Amino acid sequence: MSSAVIYTDLDGTLLDHHTYAFDEALETIKALKDRGIPIIPCTSKTRAETVNLMQTMGIDGPMIIENGAAIWVPLGWGLERPEGSDSDAHAWCHRFGLSRGMIRRQLAILNIEWGNRYQSLSDLSDKQVAAVTGLDLESAARAKRRQHSETLVWLGTPADRKAFAAQVEALDMRCVEGGRFVHVLASGGKAEAVSWLHHKIRRERPDLERARSLSAGDAENDVEMLEVTDLALLVRSPVNEPPTVRRRGGLLISDIAGPAGWAEGMEALIERVEEEEDRDRLLSKRHDHNAA
Ligand SMILES: [Mg+2]
Repeated sequence: MSSAVIYTDLDGTLLDHHTYAFDEALETIKALKDRGIPIIPCTSKTRAETVNLMQTMGIDGPMIIENGAAIWVPLGWGLERPEGSDSDAHAWCHRFGLSRGMIRRQLAILNIEWGNRYQSLSDLSDKQVAAVTGLDLESAARAKRRQHSETLVWLGTPADRKAFAAQVEALDMRCVEGGRFVHVLASGGKAEAVSWLHHKIRRERPDLERARSLSAGDAENDVEMLEVTDLALLVRSPVNEPPTVRRRGGLLISDIAGPAGWAEGMEALIERVEEEEDRDRLLSKRHDHNAA
């Protein structure tokens, strides 16, 4: 029986904003794993990038990628594969909207007016992506392997970006602002993906049927996710002010930035979940006693 499932952003949250390191969170990751608490990345990264990171962190299980445009779940993880979903030898994929090819076709409509103000990440060379992101060349290549969304390097002004987002929405798609990029999604998003997956986990995994949902993020593109989970952790960023999160309680803001803040905050949230559980158990015992 596990009491919680953690949905976490990666860049700037579990990974250091500048160096992408996560050493300071490793001990906590291990402790959570030993207690059977799944850690599910919910990131703007691609599957190729996330698989690689999860391996180095020593975690397995589902992942929510490309800002919530799709979810990959390992075949043996105990969740039923939805009809019509894609799969490979290891995992199945639930996608919330159109493929990246279709999104590109839609975006081509806006290209005449806006084409000089953005560049598609996947049209850049690995070297150029490495220069923009600070990633090494291999990681840059993995970052380009998008399948469910289109990532743009924005060259225009922030005001331009707003006007562009409105036009994207008029085409029935949405723009999500990441730390470094603008992501265009056909559908889904971090909140929708987390809600969909958590519901499925509680329904289909008996050991997690009462698990609370915990989320962690650092930026504007995490806010919708931080607003839908049972408890939420806003990890302080070294570059931005914390965004506004609207919820009634259940929100913790870390004192420290990045992975150290993630570890500190997650331990506090898990402690809280366990306290609540103890209290619930005590209450139900008392209730049984009174009823007898
Ligand atoms: Mg982030």
